[in-house]
Amino acid sequence: RITRTDPVVAQRQVGLAQGLERRGAAREALGRGSISTEHAAVIVQADRNLPRQVTAVQRDRVEADLLAKAETLSPTALRRAARRALEAVENDVAAVDAHENELVVSEEDRARAKTRLTMHDNGDGTVTGHFTVPSAQGSLLKKIIETITAPRRGRLGASQAQVGEREARTDFDRARGEALVELIEHLPTDHLHPRSAATLVVTVSEEILRGALKAVGLDTGEILSAGEVRRLACNAHLIPAVLGGKSLPLDLGRGSRLFTEAQRIALGLRHSTCAADGCDRPFAWCELHHLHSWALGGRTDLANAVPLCHFHHQRIHDHRYRHTRAPDGSIRFRLVT
Ligand SMILES: [Zn+2]
Ligand SMILES: [Zn+2]
Repeated sequence: RITRTDPVVAQRQVGLAQGLERRGAAREALGRGSISTEHAAVIVQADRNLPRQVTAVQRDRVEADLLAKAETLSPTALRRAARRALEAVENDVAAVDAHENELVVSEEDRARAKTRLTMHDNGDGTVTGHFTVPSAQGSLLKKIIETITAPRRGRLGASQAQVGEREARTDFDRARGEALVELIEHLPTDHLHPRSAATLVVTVSEEILRGALKAVGLDTGEILSAGEVRRLACNAHLIPAVLGGKSLPLDLGRGSRLFTEAQRIALGLRHSTCAADGCDRPFAWCELHHLHSWALGGRTDLANAVPLCHFHHQRIHDHRYRHTRAPDGSIRFRLVT
């Protein structure tokens, strides 16, 4: 049945109908409702994928074998099984293996050809993207996102100031979106290209780094709040090109603005997680924040470093929140009233 639908779907349906003309048993099973259209499409495709020398009688046996499997397998699982459909008529395991590998190679080629990333500027401070990647990389991304969203941000019953809005924790699309933002900021972009690191350059006055509340323009045209600029300046992703005011040399005087790898390792011996009270985000994902701001004369030494996860690092640079440090070093946030 072809209804008003998009051409790709329509073409697929025509292909399935044609394929079913030669696969009587599958057509019957579909008519009886004992298999789904997806199952039928897998069986038709498996038949097309069989080597040319497979006889008509053998094809019927392959079909019967897949129909039996379709009773218990999902379409995805059946698709996996169908790559070894030759098994039903071929005793040589090596031949079945080789045929499966051939099918996988062409699947990989097709997946690579379909790979896309498109991004669209919504003009409202957000960008919307759409991507298609091969399943293996898709699964990897899913695992990474799930890992980032998994740990809790605070103790049970912690304040909103400590753990963020309720929606941000219960809306899974939003949680995954925030995890993607975190992932982007944590990519090792400094080695992407030998000369141009994938960093944002901001022209910022000394007053901003010292704490003034003023939005700042980036080299890419976006605007960031003063708090975001100061947070990004704690990481390597943003290079403040300081203009005006008293001179504040970036690479002189108090040495490097960024903590070294050795300092990071040393700090990791003291902290296993984000320093915010009750936050379980592992140290390895944390951003190193200068407790006493570098721009205000804070030193880039261990005593001045505190590991904070992406969320709590944002919070500590958000002028709407204050924080206190407990004797054990854990940090608690409260909303400024
Ligand atoms: Zn910071
Ligand atoms: Zn945290």
